[in-house]
Amino acid sequence: MLPQNVKRRGVMLALSSPSGAGKTTISRLLMDIDPEIHVSISATTRQPRPGEIDGVHYQFLDKETFQAMVDNGEFLEYATVFENMYGTLRKPVEEILSKGHDVLFDIDWQGTQQLRDVARDDIVSIFILPPDLKELENRLRIRAQDSAEEIDYRMGRAMSEISHYDEYHYVVVNHEVKDSLQRVQSILEAERMKSRRMSGLNEFINDFKEKDI
Ligand code: 5GP
Repeated sequence: MLPQNVKRRGVMLALSSPSGAGKTTISRLLMDIDPEIHVSISATTRQPRPGEIDGVHYQFLDKETFQAMVDNGEFLEYATVFENMYGTLRKPVEEILSKGHDVLFDIDWQGTQQLRDVARDDIVSIFILPPDLKELENRLRIRAQDSAEEIDYRMGRAMSEISHYDEYHYVVVNHEVKDSLQRVQSILEAERMKSRRMSGLNEFINDFKEKDI
């Protein structure tokens, strides 16, 4: 808890991983336990999976609408992933940050790179690695949300996604979701306390001196 009149800038927390490594599960759990973090709901041109709700999991758009929004400068970042377009809308992110809350992005390495270019001081990036590739494939099959072809395609792309791990501030190997969640929480807690994110500390400290006299 921060002292009164000390404010902090929100953290932009980007989580990336190959599909199936567990980042979406970790993101959802983090949202459930931490009221100060809000998820950025991406827009995409991909078809909803069974159980996915428009406006909750993604904003599902057709290609023409997505392109018109790109042309209109409405995206903070966007990229083509698995032949579909995905992007982060600028306005909701700015609204969350302006309230001093944090924003969680479940985005790929291309999006993380773009966010770093536009918000270098605010972005904290974590790459989630699976324990091994076999486990990644198991998780994709257990999830049973994608067709066999889609799973093969995603597995084929996994190593190329993983090759970007060293562009991230932190790496978490996801053996157990519970442990990985704790690690992500620790990173977030530490990042929130960085002195450069805080304003009003001088006034707070000056107050000490006056109280001592
Ligand atoms: P999925 O189709 O499995 O939901 O997501 C496929 C990939 O697209 C994942 O790696 C996910 O992180 C990424 N992705 C989701 N939303 C965005 C976004 O707004 N921007 C970018 N660059 N990637 C995204």
